[in-house]
Amino acid sequence: MSLLKIHDLKVAYGGIHAVKGIDIEIEAGELVCLIGANGAGKTTTLKALCGMLPVSKGTVHYEGRSIAGMQTHEIVRQGISLVPEGRGVFSRLTVAENLEMGAYIRNDKSEIRGDMDQMYALFPRLHERRTQQAGTLSGGEQQLLAMGRALMSRPKLLFLDEPSMGLAPLMVQKIFETVRNIAAQGVTIFLVEQNAKLALEISHRGYVMESGLITLKGEAQSLLKNPLVQQAYLGE
Ligand code: ATP
Repeated sequence: MSLLKIHDLKVAYGGIHAVKGIDIEIEAGELVCLIGANGAGKTTTLKALCGMLPVSKGTVHYEGRSIAGMQTHEIVRQGISLVPEGRGVFSRLTVAENLEMGAYIRNDKSEIRGDMDQMYALFPRLHERRTQQAGTLSGGEQQLLAMGRALMSRPKLLFLDEPSMGLAPLMVQKIFETVRNIAAQGVTIFLVEQNAKLALEISHRGYVMESGLITLKGEAQSLLKNPLVQQAYLGE
C-alpha cells in the first residue's frame, strides 16, 4: 500500500482550473519530486493535500485513509507536515520558540526537548542562533528553521514547497543536502521544485507538471536523461 495515493485530483480557484486531474503515488521511505514551470500548479497541489484549499474532485488517501476534505490540523495529526513556499517562520519569535511551535500537537515534554537537541545537531547553525529572532536570520537559515520546525511534529510525510527559492547557490546545495539527510533518516518526502536538476539528482522518482497535468513521470535518473526534460527543464 502506498503511503500517499492521489487519484484524479482536481483543484480550482473559482472558475480557474489549476489542477486538472492528477495521479501521484508515494511509497513509504521514498523521496519524490514534483517539477514544473512557474504556474504549473505545484503549490496548488500541495495546498490541496494539506487541507488549505478545497479538493474539487478526486481522492487522496494517506496510509489507506481518505484525507481529502480534512482540516489542516487534522492532517498534521495524521503525520503530515508542510514547509510552505516562502518559509513562513514566525519572525518575532526566537529560533528555539519557532522549533517549539512545530511540536504544538505533542505534549511529551521530555521527548520534545530531545527532538530539539536533535534539530540542533542536524542544523548547528540554528543552535548558534537559538536565542535570536527568526526574522533576523538569512533566507537560507530561515529555510533550515522552517524544515526543523516541520520535523518537530515528527512527520512520516514531509511536503517541501520550493525550498531552494531565492537562495544563493551555496545555500541551495546545503538545503538539498539537508533534504537528502532528512530522507535518509526515514522521513518520506514530497519535494516541489523549480530547480529540476538538483531535485531529480536527490530524488528516487519524479513527476513533471505542466498546466495542471502530469505530463511525465518515472525514475529520477531516467527523467534526468529524458530529452524532453533536458530541453524544457535542465537548460540543455
Ligand atoms: P509557483 O512555482 O509559482 O509556485 P506553481 O506550479 O506552484 O507555481 P501554482 O501557484 O499552483 O503554480 O498556480 C497554478 C495556477 O493557479 C496558476 O495559473 C496561477 O495563476 C493560479 N493561481 C494560483 N493561486 C491562485 C489564486 N489564489 N487565485 C486564482 N488563481 C490562482
